[in-house]
Amino acid sequence: MIHRGQLARRTPPTAKRPRRTRKGHEIFGLNDEPLLCHRCGEELRPGEGSFYVVRIEAIADPTPPNISAEDLARDFEAELERIFEQMRDVSPQELMDQVYRRMTIHLCGRCYSEWIEDPAGR
Ligand SMILES: [Zn+2]
Repeated sequence: MIHRGQLARRTPPTAKRPRRTRKGHEIFGLNDEPLLCHRCGEELRPGEGSFYVVRIEAIADPTPPNISAEDLARDFEAELERIFEQMRDVSPQELMDQVYRRMTIHLCGRCYSEWIEDPAGR
């Protein structure tokens, strides 16, 4: 059992907390790099309400595949062999990226207004 006193001793009162020099670091997990608009490169100033944080999540079609009688008649071992062969030169990260991507971008107010009207823009 851990007593309060033991926990307190682990963190001396003089221990410095990481310095935060810009607003928003705790919310966005930012480092000391200036925050730039992902589209136009304009520097964004946290705390002024002038930019947007856009979170994008892309998931490959999660529907189970359609399996035909022809598929069932295939030689499974040969099929698996073929699939493993295809995957051989692909890193686990690349394979993961093919089925799931998540990213966060920052957009200035002007870029956001344009982007949100046509997010799938061609
Ligand atoms: Zn911008």
